[in-house]
Amino acid sequence: MAELKKVGVLTSGGDAPGMNAAIRAAVRSCIFYGIEPVAIREGYKGLIDNDLEVMNARSVANIINQGGTFLKSARCAEFRTPEGRAKAFANAKAAGLDGLVVIGGDGSFTGAMLIEKEHGLPCVGVPGTIDNDIFGTDFTIGYDTALNTVVEAIDKIRDTATSHNRLFLVEVMGRDAGFIALNTGIAAGAEQILIPEEQKSVNELMDDIANSGRAGKTSSIVVVSEGDKSGGVFELASKIEDSFPDYDVKVTVLGHTQRGGKPSCSDRVLASRLGVAAVEALREGDSGVMVGVRNQQVVQTPLEEAISKHNAIDKALLKVAEIVTV
Ligand code: ADP
Repeated sequence: MAELKKVGVLTSGGDAPGMNAAIRAAVRSCIFYGIEPVAIREGYKGLIDNDLEVMNARSVANIINQGGTFLKSARCAEFRTPEGRAKAFANAKAAGLDGLVVIGGDGSFTGAMLIEKEHGLPCVGVPGTIDNDIFGTDFTIGYDTALNTVVEAIDKIRDTATSHNRLFLVEVMGRDAGFIALNTGIAAGAEQILIPEEQKSVNELMDDIANSGRAGKTSSIVVVSEGDKSGGVFELASKIEDSFPDYDVKVTVLGHTQRGGKPSCSDRVLASRLGVAAVEALREGDSGVMVGVRNQQVVQTPLEEAISKHNAIDKALLKVAEIVTV
């Protein structure tokens, strides 16, 4: 196994709270093991534009508690092309990088897998996304913080909902996965939860709302995942208003507030564990893998598998949601 001398670290794709903590952990474990860490700005764009900077342990001071990513993230269309990746590799080679830690989502991992296959640059992925939809880890970095942000927002919405006879539709992030909607819906006591994995018809939702009213509830909160296919929160709101004229129907789209904020303790610890694990994997000659945590243990999953498979939601939680809202 060739000695690892220099490792590049980048954040790519959608940002997530805790990415800074992952960068810090990767940089500091490089220092710990006598490897020179090199920060790459704006994801793959920085590799193509040669926007690199050698880091030291102090370069990542005071960032563990900051949301976002100080290296910035970017979407880079050029990296999707073989020519773009060749340019990126040429810069990586000229800088003497022996490996790359890629903190991002499945798009970023696809890019990592391709540059490794085409040019032999060892890459290790670290899952950073609020959606928690990456196969090979029980939790992604940013998910726990996003859950807490959403629950805090819904608690506030509940105050105004109960002060009037209001029905709130709260749209949360999750284009393909309902993890955020399902878990925050339970935690914030939502009357209904709409997720892409369990498509409810509008009629079923109407029945549920009618039952809620019969059970004595005068206000309701419906958490709707972005990926729900009922036509979107605004269309749903107008259908509900037509059927339930007594309800004052309001819509709140939480949007990008869910991406920001100080990372939670869980996210900081997860990011620290995975940042260290990524550098250790490269040291041990493991690459083309993503590091994750399963059943409390750090594990590796081939990038190919992490990209092609998906974590399923826990169906038992749907039952719990139904029971606790009678
Ligand atoms: P995420 O990593 O959060 O899923 P994206 O899907 O936007 O975010 O991917 C981030 C970046 O990864 C893209 O801008 C692009 O540079 C690179 N990437 C994504 N998909 C591919 C692909 N199929 N081939 C090569 N690079 C890709």
